[in-house]
Amino acid sequence: MRRDDTKVIHIGNVAIGGGNPIAIQSMTNTRTEDVQATVKQILALEKVGCEIIRCAVPTMEAAEALREIKKQIHIPLVADIHFDYRLAIAAIENGADKIRINPGNIGDISRVKTVVDKAKEYNIPIRVGVNSGSLEKNLVEKYGGVTAEGIVESALDKVRMIEELGYDNLVVSIKSSDVLMCVKAHELIAEQCQYPLHVGITEAGTVLSGNIKSSVGLGIILHEGIGDTIRVSLTGDPLEEIKSAKLILRTLGLRKGGIEVVSCPTCGRTKIDLIGLANQVEEMVQDIPLDIKVAVMGCVVNGPGEAKEADIGIAGGIGEGLLIKKGEIVKKVKEDKLLETLREELLNWGK
Ligand code: SF4
Repeated sequence: MRRDDTKVIHIGNVAIGGGNPIAIQSMTNTRTEDVQATVKQILALEKVGCEIIRCAVPTMEAAEALREIKKQIHIPLVADIHFDYRLAIAAIENGADKIRINPGNIGDISRVKTVVDKAKEYNIPIRVGVNSGSLEKNLVEKYGGVTAEGIVESALDKVRMIEELGYDNLVVSIKSSDVLMCVKAHELIAEQCQYPLHVGITEAGTVLSGNIKSSVGLGIILHEGIGDTIRVSLTGDPLEEIKSAKLILRTLGLRKGGIEVVSCPTCGRTKIDLIGLANQVEEMVQDIPLDIKVAVMGCVVNGPGEAKEADIGIAGGIGEGLLIKKGEIVKKVKEDKLLETLREELLNWGK
């Protein structure tokens, strides 16, 4: 189903599906057993806009740590479980707001039932996750390899298994590192599934390739009206995942808010370190809750004109720059003061 029509599912205090805003997720890369380090990372992720956080639960100690972690954070906490159903039970008992399992690797049906019954008791959703890498042999044979059709059949089999156990508080995720296969799989499953879809390109790669693959894949899927919650998977700092996810949603017009930074590509007229400055500006605006456009332009020849569409901007000169508002030059600023002048202006915006 398209996102406006999917079932509404509550993960802690965040509702997804049924046209709710697309929620941004990430996953911690600290040891979950290390409560202090994990909480520190989650709080940093919250600050840049993470709305749901998932932690790996590979041990009983990690499952127990969830209780303490949850007390110190403000966003829903999802437990990521593989293989051991007892970890799923412990994660739920220790306060997980959702669990992510692949019923295919949890064990026989009685074990899956034990997990489902526990989720039912605590009324928390189960995310049924299927990855192309772990597609069952019979489906690989049936479809002549790993295919979108196979991934979808595998996911829907698991969904039906849990429905038959009497539970429909579900979120579904199907992932592939092959972007076009992932797109096709989402198009297919959206036609057959009422549950919200968690969308991501798995094993997308390092910051550069991960961002590109995720932007292309998520861009197409989300633009087709599919997907209720997303994660941009990067081999890198999880904070980068949130920044990328926000940018993807904003670029698609699926989210308002936050400062949009536009910057020129630089050319032979650029006389300041614009690349460095643009990166610093992008970083600097992360914690400022404004919904405006900021331009960072390389020169005073075309900069002010090109920055006309921005609410505020800076344009580089020789050792100095211009502060510009709506295309009008407001004042000249020394190059080494440009960043702090801009921040000052943003912090006092509208005052
Ligand atoms: S704004 Fe100036 S420096 Fe930047 S690309 Fe345009 S002409 Fe070149």
